Amino acid sequence: MVQHKINIKKNDKVMVISGKEKGKMGKILKIFPEKNRVIVEKVNYIKRHTRPGGKVSKGGIIEKEAPLHVSNVMLICGKCSDPVRVGYQRQPEGKSVRICKKCGEILENK
Ligand SMILES: [Zn+2]
Repeated sequence: MVQHKINIKKNDKVMVISGKEKGKMGKILKIFPEKNRVIVEKVNYIKRHTRPGGKVSKGGIIEKEAPLHVSNVMLICGKCSDPVRVGYQRQPEGKSVRICKKCGEILENK
């Protein structure tokens, strides 16, 4: 299995770049690094039937975001307002930060 380097973090704003949800934007809610998948807020909703009993007491249909493969989403640069490639830059204090390869903007959540 190919291990993708995940350069996306929780609360990042991303755009879906392929698949049926292409063009949708949302915030990263959850990351599954071992599966290379992410959950994007309000993107890729699926209907799931739940049965009475177990963890959920009432049965019915719930809508839930399904995970997307990390290669299907791209980080949006706040400055370019576009999905961009991410690069890394080492800061003077030794920490490396993500930068936009297009404009050089630092893409860390504050
Ligand atoms: Zn940029």
